[in-house]
Amino acid sequence: AAVAAGVASHVLDVPDFPEPGVTFKDLTPLFADPDGFRHVIDAVVEHHGSDSFDVVAGIEARGFVIAAAVAYATGTGVVPVRKAGKLPRRTVSASYTLEYGTATLEVHEDAFHRGERVLVVDDVLATGGTAEATLQLVERAGGRVAGFSVLLELGFLHGRQRLAPRQVHALLTV
Ligand code: IMP
Repeated sequence: AAVAAGVASHVLDVPDFPEPGVTFKDLTPLFADPDGFRHVIDAVVEHHGSDSFDVVAGIEARGFVIAAAVAYATGTGVVPVRKAGKLPRRTVSASYTLEYGTATLEVHEDAFHRGERVLVVDDVLATGGTAEATLQLVERAGGRVAGFSVLLELGFLHGRQRLAPRQVHALLTV
């Protein structure tokens, strides 16, 4: 509960971003706050435990920040899930519909050892399209999703249901 309150107190609602009618949850103040950042990373690590996954996949771009800290804290590594055209070697890719617009994500085709357990992290779960595409990428690249972890879940968009039966852990759901 303290962690959820910490997230809530550092989230800013930005109306009409990136387009009219969308209220964007800006978590950059949470990342910038020393205690806030430490507490959310500790909570993610505590929830999953360092024995439940082998590697952390971070979704571009704010997911990278979380993935790096979680991997460092657990003695694991980071795999970047990137927007199309950024990765230099052969990739697998998945296109999906976002809360606003469409996008394609990619991961290097050899990013995971076969059967490797992958913790997928991002800042916000909205419609779940991004996380669902990442699930496809992890599986097509030979990994297994051990779980999803987000700092903030927009519960009214029901993204969690798209990922079932896989577990989604959110520090705060609004
Ligand atoms: P989804 O695919 O609809 O679940 O959207 C989630 C993706 O879009 C994540 O990578 C988030 O970083 C980003 N996103 C969507 N809505 C927000 C928001 O309100 N604040 C911050 N990021 C968001």
